Amino acid sequence: MTTSFLPYPNADAPSEELISRCVHCGLCLPSCPTFAVLGVETDSPRGRIRLMKTVWEGRVSADAPSFEKHIGQCLDCRACETACPSGVEYGKLVEAARSQILAVRRPSAIERAIRTAAFDWLLPHRRVLAAFATLSVAAKRAKMPTLLRASRLHAGRRLAEMLELLPERATAERMETVVPAQGARRGTVALFAGCVMGSVFGDTNRATARVLARNGVEVHVTRPQTCCGALHAHAGERDRARALARRNIAAFEGLAVEAIIVNAAGCGAAMKEYGWLLKDDPAWAARATAFAARVRDATEYLGDLGLREPPGPVRVRAVYDDPCHLLHGQRVQAQPRALLAAIPGLDLAPLAEADMCCGSAGTYNVTQPELARALLERKVANIQRSGAELVVTANPGCLMQIQAGLRRAGSTARVVHLIDLLDESYRAG
Ligand code: SF4
Ligand code: SF4
Repeated sequence: MTTSFLPYPNADAPSEELISRCVHCGLCLPSCPTFAVLGVETDSPRGRIRLMKTVWEGRVSADAPSFEKHIGQCLDCRACETACPSGVEYGKLVEAARSQILAVRRPSAIERAIRTAAFDWLLPHRRVLAAFATLSVAAKRAKMPTLLRASRLHAGRRLAEMLELLPERATAERMETVVPAQGARRGTVALFAGCVMGSVFGDTNRATARVLARNGVEVHVTRPQTCCGALHAHAGERDRARALARRNIAAFEGLAVEAIIVNAAGCGAAMKEYGWLLKDDPAWAARATAFAARVRDATEYLGDLGLREPPGPVRVRAVYDDPCHLLHGQRVQAQPRALLAAIPGLDLAPLAEADMCCGSAGTYNVTQPELARALLERKVANIQRSGAELVVTANPGCLMQIQAGLRRAGSTARVVHLIDLLDESYRAG
């Protein structure tokens, strides 16, 4: 076989070099959520890499339904990357495979319209997204999901499930362009506002700036920034993701800050990989690598910096659920736990399978609702077994998914972003 053979003229097809790093040892299988639920090799990391290889070799077409099905059922949670002793970069492989599928299977006019609306009109435009989120939350509060379910239509049920994921209220972010450090300055950073964070979890963005400022960090908020493109890349929309990445790089590169702070794990993981995303663009590759080197998750930055003063007491039994794109995508594990350990009175209990995806995974709970629900039920059962009244995490998708699962199970446990908890803790102090 010739190594130059690539069945489809698509720069984002999985490369032979990445595919060949897998030695098929199977050590990743126990950590794969879809393998845990479905128990079949083709829904394991090793099985999916084998499928990519058969497509690369031209033995199976990239638009074969079985290829699309098993690549589509992957969460892109990257737990297999953490488990793999051979350094397989699975996230890059699966996103390239999705791009490859998209390039050859020609989406229907309806799917193209949905992709354009979501990826071009909604996510990159925070005001449009904020208006959409406010309307959706109002529809949820007006019991629209109950009406939709009563319609007995499949689309109605799906729409109801999506509305039920939303929080009780959406807050758009309105912030000063500079939030000064309190006391002696220990750092200067820029805050990445994000699309969902900026239009639904605006309070968390404000809390992030407050907690950083309280710890001696000056926070800059630049306006021309846009969505990070993570959801686009996960859905195979690499060119759309690249366009957003270029806009963010241009927005932040002139700022004299030591770090770009991100409080959504999925965004941070994507932004740390801008160098890879734009590696074939000579005008942007070096700028993207320089940008990526400055990206830090808010918990990572604060954990490394250390809290200047202890926060106030929060007396509750809590668990920490690792967002996949923080733990597996960014390998940030110790810092969030160190921050939680600094909160007096917090009874931090162990959570079984804290490193396993909750089923949110970008748009996975929309595109694969049955599998997402199975994983969510597993997560909720583990939380309930822990006896926790508070679940702490650090990603908007996980927050909404786990809160919806707990509500559905009749639990009153609250789900909170770690930064919001620190902010509450400071105020309690
Ligand atoms: S990314 Fe997650 S779901 Fe996909 S193969 Fe790896 S462990 Fe399994
Ligand atoms: S991805 Fe890594 S752990 Fe999994 S089978 Fe391949 S080499 Fe082994």
